[in-house]
Amino acid sequence: MHSLAAVFRDVDTPLSIERIALDSPKSTEVLVRIAAVGLCRTDYHVMRGERRVAMRPMVLGHEAAGVVEETGTAVAGIKPGDHVILTFIPACGTCRWCRQGLHHLCAEGPRITKGPQLDGTYRRRDNEGVPVGSFCMIGAFAERTVVDQASVVVIDKDIPLDHASLVACGVPAGVGAARHRARVKRGDSVLVVGCGGDGMNVVQGAKLCGASKIIAADIVPAKLDWARDFGATDGINARGEGLTRAVLELTDGIGVDHAFVCINPPETLLSAFRATTKAGNVVVTALTPDTVTEIQIPPLELFVTQKAIMGAVYGFSSPRLQIPELLTLYRRGMLRLRELITQTYRLDEINRGYADLEAGRNLRGVVIFDG
Ligand SMILES: [Zn+2]
Ligand SMILES: [Zn+2]
Repeated sequence: MHSLAAVFRDVDTPLSIERIALDSPKSTEVLVRIAAVGLCRTDYHVMRGERRVAMRPMVLGHEAAGVVEETGTAVAGIKPGDHVILTFIPACGTCRWCRQGLHHLCAEGPRITKGPQLDGTYRRRDNEGVPVGSFCMIGAFAERTVVDQASVVVIDKDIPLDHASLVACGVPAGVGAARHRARVKRGDSVLVVGCGGDGMNVVQGAKLCGASKIIAADIVPAKLDWARDFGATDGINARGEGLTRAVLELTDGIGVDHAFVCINPPETLLSAFRATTKAGNVVVTALTPDTVTEIQIPPLELFVTQKAIMGAVYGFSSPRLQIPELLTLYRRGMLRLRELITQTYRLDEINRGYADLEAGRNLRGVVIFDG
């Protein structure tokens, strides 16, 4: 079969909209018709060459929900017609981390930038017959994709698929960073630096945890307004030392219990670190290009202030556990999904969607496919 896809061919070049060949699923795989896919910044880092991938051409897109159309002979617990969310780290089920339920740490995780399927082969080819990779073993900027069952979580059919797509990446990444990594407690104070897709969900997560002060920091004024809607108590439009100073002013000179670095860590980490109270947590949820090899924290300052600097991918919890739980919170009105979607696009408008992301015009842009 064939499928329309947005293909990454060259760095700093618009994605190319092409009709490419797609093979049927192998025994452990499923064919999924994509219903919605979010325009996450990670794909944009790849397009800019800041997150290097092992091959081109490659179909990007990793924040997706859709409907299963066909299943391989060895697939268990997934059937045609099922609504699914695709996870950007597979759960192989057999590595030491998967056996402990820590799928966000799966041993197969480092392979998600390589291009092939979980089994090492390809399901996609372009018009010249060249294999086309799938980013995160998903490649969801396409009408259809074939993924291993290790990347699939079945969800209830009452959840709108456009809302569900966000629970594939940005929502668990942000909400989980607050709940599972920093373990924000009732009454704690929180700083969120960078209120895009991840950051806004850290705000939601901190609110769910009962944080009493949630300080949003961004240099785009509209994002501070959105952050207040999502539960932020204060907004700061500052960077560097100005950011640290403003946070200390809002916290009686003490600093916040938890700071979340959700954008550009090389530039924001030190100011967030210094805005954190002694023995507080600094959580990094954002990508840094692999060409940056150092972070700027004075070791003596780290030692005497006894702060913890930590990373969080996928909200530091298994997507298989988080996704059903987050959808339950959504159903109860405790988690906002619809409000995260600020603009929708057709697949052939995807480059405009990323221009809007770059310009700070979106909380989350989502590509919607006609059923
Ligand atoms: Zn993402
Ligand atoms: Zn595993």
